Amino acid sequence: MTRALAIARCAQGGRPPCCYIDRSNPPGRQPAPGVRFAEVFVSIQVFGLPVSRGVAIGRAVLVASSRVDVAHYYVEAGMIDAEVRRLRAARDLVVSELTALKGDVPEDAHDELVALLDVHLMLLQDDSLSEATRQWIVERHYNAEWALSSQLEVIARQFDEMEDEYLRDRKADLEQVVERVITALGRLGGDSFDDPPPQGQRDFAGEDPLVLVANDIAPADMLKFRRSVFTGFVTDVGGRNSHTAIVARSMDIPAVVGAREASRIVTQDDWIIIDGDAGVVIVNPSPIVLEEYRFRQRQVELERARLDRLRHTPAVTLDGHAVELLANIELPSDAQAVLDAGAVGVGLFRSEFLFMNRAGRLPGEEEQYEAYSKVVRSLAGLPVTIRTVDIGADKQLDRNPQQMERNDYSLNPALGLRAIRWSLSEPEMFGEQLRAILRASVHGQVRLLVPMVAQLREVRLLLDAIERAKAQLRARGQDYLDVPIGAMIEVPAAALMLPTLLKHFDFVSIGTNDLIQYTLAIDRADEAVSHLYDPWHPAVLQLIAQTIAKANELGKDVCVCGEMAGDAAFTELLLGMGLRSFSMHPTQVSSIKKRILRVDSSAWSKHVDLVCQAEDPQDVYSRLQTAGPSRIGG
Ligand code: PEP
Ligand code: MG
Repeated sequence: MTRALAIARCAQGGRPPCCYIDRSNPPGRQPAPGVRFAEVFVSIQVFGLPVSRGVAIGRAVLVASSRVDVAHYYVEAGMIDAEVRRLRAARDLVVSELTALKGDVPEDAHDELVALLDVHLMLLQDDSLSEATRQWIVERHYNAEWALSSQLEVIARQFDEMEDEYLRDRKADLEQVVERVITALGRLGGDSFDDPPPQGQRDFAGEDPLVLVANDIAPADMLKFRRSVFTGFVTDVGGRNSHTAIVARSMDIPAVVGAREASRIVTQDDWIIIDGDAGVVIVNPSPIVLEEYRFRQRQVELERARLDRLRHTPAVTLDGHAVELLANIELPSDAQAVLDAGAVGVGLFRSEFLFMNRAGRLPGEEEQYEAYSKVVRSLAGLPVTIRTVDIGADKQLDRNPQQMERNDYSLNPALGLRAIRWSLSEPEMFGEQLRAILRASVHGQVRLLVPMVAQLREVRLLLDAIERAKAQLRARGQDYLDVPIGAMIEVPAAALMLPTLLKHFDFVSIGTNDLIQYTLAIDRADEAVSHLYDPWHPAVLQLIAQTIAKANELGKDVCVCGEMAGDAAFTELLLGMGLRSFSMHPTQVSSIKKRILRVDSSAWSKHVDLVCQAEDPQDVYSRLQTAGPSRIGG
């Protein structure tokens, strides 16, 4: 679909325009919500939620949500012919499968089914698919799967534009055909993110940088992008603190989510700018805008280099309080980033990511033991806080269909069988995980953290499960240490009953992401309510302040491991509340440290009540910041 066509269609009263920029920008014609006309001809701005800072500039790779898990890598020049042959072999395989299927069609279903298979065979052999896909490989050096899904997006748009309903409906056939070829490519080898890079794969040095544009990306798929070529991403849906956004932040690549129509506005290969600070996506920017953003990119790099120098500086406030800066990780391979960032341990290892992208097979005790031990050994005596699986809500497993059904189709997944609730309902799996964590403890300093604790009944079951795991290890003659056990405080009930909980736990870690979600009843992954997801809400701040104060009073360690810990906007306030342990993405450690070095925490502690009890805490806090906390009476 050309943009001209799209404009024409809008003018005809089709679906509302999504910000097509034309020469006239006719007065009175309003763009769709979240989108506005730009001054520059054919340049388009789309507005979403900023979730990961920085600026990315690159060509758009448009991927349908169902295909985000397709491998994206470049093929060496010398391997291009082989890749084209791989594509052909996969296509021929599908052609012969479909031809065989045609021969087996039962008499009674004959006409309709044969006609359908004929359509599929025709599409498979159509030049607009096969020849154009070959060109993506030859000219752009894309791997076959990526080339196919890129071309699919191009043709799918053309189908969407067709007047004839019958022809328009053929898009589904095209998608099925492409799926089949992609599956066949998998059978021929060469498409896996988890395996070592296929021979002939290379990174994107020397090529145009690429940014991913999709309707949605699941957290599990985000993990795969760590090894991909993308330098930024945009999605139509998603909230600021969805796990997809969190993984983007951990990768430190600029990202905008909730950009609504972005995947419909952007076309394959458009140049786009992702402004991860402002939450803006600029499609086909003018040279002036491009130059301005390139300048900003250089500034961000310079600031990073400056912050890097703080890596080995201890985090101590102006009034002499030492602060522990820990890191959040998703996979064992993140351990090096923790050390490189100068963090003094792992405050949150989100172990559930070990359970994703497993093609139905969950990691057993041995595999988990190896994974945890790897991190514990790498951290060489620094603390490693391993959280038991937090599966559910927006983090789903991909295992057998019955399990999928239990997890995927609950009416209200954020309130359903999630985290500790799920673990307790899977005693065998939970036992394996607990034994693996306990065994890893002999290699360093392990702490065990449990997500979403809300009820004493669960606490008792949890402690029983831990005792059982220990007894099993003793019976086997395997070593373990008595690790400290902590509870995530991320449900208001847990914050309110903290003294009772602390009779059973050695430490607590405040999960502000969920604490906000559950206190305000706002789904953190839903962009439709993301404007109401407010860390500055007085109820949220009061719960956090209360939890920190109570834990300190009772002499128990307390940490914040939600996104607020890595957001410099909250550093003074959290220090003022008495927090001395923060856990965040490794890439945030230096900037938070820089902030801490300038804070007089005792001056701020006098104003905590004033801020938390205010009708507009953010306003009071900013005024204090401007005036300097010691100069305001409170
Ligand atoms: C939180 O809820 O703040 C947290 C750290 O856990 P997660 O983001 O993994 O739910
Ligand atoms: Mg949480």
